[in-house]
Amino acid sequence: MRILITGGAGFLGSHLCDRFLAEGHTVVAMDNLITGSTDNIAHLAGHPRFSFIKHDVTNYIFVEGPLDAILHFASPASPVDYLELPIQTLKVGALGTHKALGLAKNKKARFLLASTSEVYGDPQVHPQPETYYGHVNPIGPRGVYDEAKRFAEAMTMAYHRYHGVDTRIVRIFNTYGPRMRLRDGRVVPNFIQQALRGEPLTIYGDGSQTRSFQYVDDLVEGVYRLLFSDEVEPVNIGNPSEFTIKAFAELVNRLTGNKAGVVYKDLRTKDDPQVRQPDISKARRILGWEPRVSLEEGLRLTIPWFREELRKRGELP
Ligand code: UDP
Repeated sequence: MRILITGGAGFLGSHLCDRFLAEGHTVVAMDNLITGSTDNIAHLAGHPRFSFIKHDVTNYIFVEGPLDAILHFASPASPVDYLELPIQTLKVGALGTHKALGLAKNKKARFLLASTSEVYGDPQVHPQPETYYGHVNPIGPRGVYDEAKRFAEAMTMAYHRYHGVDTRIVRIFNTYGPRMRLRDGRVVPNFIQQALRGEPLTIYGDGSQTRSFQYVDDLVEGVYRLLFSDEVEPVNIGNPSEFTIKAFAELVNRLTGNKAGVVYKDLRTKDDPQVRQPDISKARRILGWEPRVSLEEGLRLTIPWFREELRKRGELP
């Protein structure tokens, strides 16, 4: 297959490029590089089945030749980005999804939307099944991401129902691993870097809020299976093992040998979800998928990558 991956130079996009190339497909990566980086795909330069186009998908997308599938992964994805890039976040979820769907219709390609657990907002149902409609604050700082992705899902279903485009929607829960940006601002890169520098980990609020962290390889496997399934309605892909942020901080300190402990900071916005855990019964049933990598194993694979990045920048000996 010949596949376009928007956001192909990003954290998830670049891992998807690797997987689809490894399976023998041809991959065109597209990225405007505002949060993605060519460092993530530098190892693919010169690969005979790989090409890269620098383009902002909120503008008309032109790709020469046939396409069999489009994976739409372009978007800022960290709460820090939503504050710094609120309009770009709204535009890529709304206009970018529209352009990518238009391209899919034109090329008769299958379209897979990267949606998010954020469509559930600060959830009042726990864990969250795909049937939950969510509890989103449209005007809060996260609203730019949450509402753009909700619009993106609506647009995807409209193209499916009205234009007959073959579509898939994955709702991705917190995912971590190598190639997250050092300045990403999310809890995994923050804590790992603080721990490697011997600094206390910054817990926002009292640390009782929970998240369920999935290693990137599990996400890639779920997306791969979903693309080749027949399921049109959204499917949660995430790791259901749930941790408080406080317990997560203790784990990072233990695995890195950091003795500096934690500090509590009042930096949470009021729509920072208090809990988040995927119900993955649907993925288990229709994709035969479930996560394989535990949080401890995944962190043991991720910490050395951050250590190396900090060394390259001369920030660690
Ligand atoms: N968080 C934290 N310290 C940090 C960064 C984040 O305590 O240095 C908290 C944040 O308030 C949230 C959770 O960790 O409750 C996960 O935040 P993240 O930014 O990773 O993504 P989210 O899941 O909220 O989109």
